[in-house]
Amino acid sequence: MRVVNPATEEPIAELEPAGVEEADAAVARAKAAFPAWRAFTPDARARVLRRLATLVEEHGEELALLETRNVGKPIADSRGEVQMVADVFQFYAGAVDKHHGETIPVSGGVDMTFREALGVVGLIVPWNFPIAIASWKLGPALACGNTVVLKPAELTPLTAVRLGELALEAGIPEGVLNVVVGPGSKVGARLAEHPDIAKIGFTGSTEVGRGVMEAAAGTIKRVTLELGGKSANVVFADADLERAAAQAPYAVFGNAGQDCCARSRILVERSAYDRFLELLVDATRGVRVGDPEDDATEMGPLITAAHREQVASFVDGNVAFRGDTPDGAGFWFPCTLVEATNDDRVAREEVFGPVAAVIPFEDEADAIRIANDTPYGLSGSIWTRDGARAFRVARAIDSGVLSINANTSVRVQTPFGGFKQSGFGRELGLHALEGYSEVKNVYYSTEA
Ligand code: NAD
Repeated sequence: MRVVNPATEEPIAELEPAGVEEADAAVARAKAAFPAWRAFTPDARARVLRRLATLVEEHGEELALLETRNVGKPIADSRGEVQMVADVFQFYAGAVDKHHGETIPVSGGVDMTFREALGVVGLIVPWNFPIAIASWKLGPALACGNTVVLKPAELTPLTAVRLGELALEAGIPEGVLNVVVGPGSKVGARLAEHPDIAKIGFTGSTEVGRGVMEAAAGTIKRVTLELGGKSANVVFADADLERAAAQAPYAVFGNAGQDCCARSRILVERSAYDRFLELLVDATRGVRVGDPEDDATEMGPLITAAHREQVASFVDGNVAFRGDTPDGAGFWFPCTLVEATNDDRVAREEVFGPVAAVIPFEDEADAIRIANDTPYGLSGSIWTRDGARAFRVARAIDSGVLSINANTSVRVQTPFGGFKQSGFGRELGLHALEGYSEVKNVYYSTEA
């Protein structure tokens, strides 16, 4: 299996792909390691997770460079994502002894709940944020006492493999975290149906997620699905238009648009539409596209040539702006703004590239209607100086994560996940622990 740098098209690693047999062997190792890992005291489990966080920080530059070369993402972004990985392990190290049960008033005795580990969990990760998304699943899974088979995307496995080595160095016992690199159709599909796997934590496309859910049904596996998105960035005429326009490009062209939270539908109130578009074009012109290893770069190439073709197929309408790209090797695609309606393909499907649809709306009700007119519901933004309206609209949009006068979606401490066909279950924050544990209720009679 050849791993390629998307910015140079040069091979950077050659790996032997695993298949069903290797997946089964990894599940067996994880199953064998489960009793001892579950028996780790909370202190001991927290300690090794904290050590892993420290090791990730100490190897930060190495991991960031590996991620940049494998995904083509700007080095500044990779550094931020690797720091987040360390923060995620710190957070869940701290959560181990705060994931409490309850005591419940009942007749005739004492009733209490325990948070039990599930057993072996399968974690399936996409190629766009490889190490970050792996950590969002690994942190809570390990903190709750589960053992893991982690399957990175076949295009971008390198940081996951390195993370597996660092976990061993941190003192996480052999067999607790198993990284298996192989095709989704073999390794991923096997994990989804495997009788010894209790839960699948999946991030990827809605189409593959649907198949994972079907395969998991065979053994009533728990599933968490973090799927696609088509998020709206809603700009009202009373917003700070300069600020909203200055930030909008980064909310869709970040990671070259290969972001499930990309605000790829920019909805603008008609009375401010012309002015906003002018500001947006200027801001988009300023996005620095180029060598991902350059500290100043803000956008790199797409992941593959085939993906670039797919992205290009969305640009057939009214192009308001098309940016520049470097010459020569690399799967480059320019920042592109398209004027559209919400019925156009570019507004309905996930492009997963640097293409934004700019769509006018008439009033608050129309903005909410358009924002919700999508099968997805992952993320989104609302820009207005009217605080009451900001909250009215935030409550009315069917989406798991919203920002007001900002475009952020993901924080270590806060729940992240989708409504509708963007999936279900929540990652990050204390909410993620619910997805990696089972509530057990125990009643103790106190009758004499
Ligand atoms: P993908 O669905 O093609 O692949 C995701 C993972 O699933 C990969 O590891 C792949 O090997 C594996 N896989 C493929 N076929 C499988 C099968 N039959 N059974 C089990 N596993 C299988 O997605 P991708 O192209 O890697 O990533 C892009 C998609 O991920 C986009 O749709 C994006 O929106 C989504 N995404 C969602 C989030 C989120 O948190 N909601 C975050 C990042 C990406």
